[in-house]
Amino acid sequence: MTKPYQRPSADEPAWWFICAGGDIVLDAEGLPPHGRLQDLPLPTLDEYQVIWLGEMRERSCYLVLADFGDDAFAAVGEFQSLRALVARNDDHLFSMAARAKQVTEFVNTHRFCGRCGARMQAVDWELAMQCNTCQHRCYPRISPCIIVAIRKDDKILLARGSRHRPGLFSVLAGFVEAGETLEQTLEREVMEEAGIKVKNIQYVCSQPWPFPNSLMMGFTAEWASGDLHFDPFELEEGDWFSFDTLPETPMAGTIAYKLIEATKQQITTASDS
Ligand SMILES: [Zn+2]
Repeated sequence: MTKPYQRPSADEPAWWFICAGGDIVLDAEGLPPHGRLQDLPLPTLDEYQVIWLGEMRERSCYLVLADFGDDAFAAVGEFQSLRALVARNDDHLFSMAARAKQVTEFVNTHRFCGRCGARMQAVDWELAMQCNTCQHRCYPRISPCIIVAIRKDDKILLARGSRHRPGLFSVLAGFVEAGETLEQTLEREVMEEAGIKVKNIQYVCSQPWPFPNSLMMGFTAEWASGDLHFDPFELEEGDWFSFDTLPETPMAGTIAYKLIEATKQQITTASDS
């Protein structure tokens, strides 16, 4: 395991995740700058905190912690929202960018100890911040969420959240509360948000969602009982939709898209058998 705080060498080909204030520098192709430090129009990185994030396509990935509005990187690209990367539908790239954003948030919010208030130090052999006064140690926070596509016969439940833009419908989602299993969260959220009970819960896949630090765990389920009653604080409208009359749904690259596709597949399989 490479240490998180190793400095890159000038001739090492690498990916550069330059982050500030939740945004990331993307080049003209919409990718993080990549190549050897000595060949790129990057400033000297001595002034910046640099953290090794992992490997992607056999190259190291480094996070460079920049300041918001820092124009020293203008020659390699522009600061953009990470959401611009979702549409590329590249899971590995998006995961690494998500890690870069979450580590940035972690370092920026753990400069002082939450227990005693002393200044914290980076641990040099793992990604953590340590208080040397009271020995409190912190790791990047990850907030687990469930996201679930529910079907009833050949229809899927889609709803429009109060924070979604008009016309965009998605599947249901919610945060795991302390002490809950994922199954309990799923059953509670579906009852609270839509007023129904579900059965045949199946795990499908997961996706880090760094806005700011969620880990989405995706499921499919089937309607068991109850009529739809939406929680007006969370959802403005929703219904059971046939796949031939779907409203606008989340784009490819999102876990919601994968779950909707998985549900469509389940319906097709069920009607064939
Ligand atoms: Zn402390």
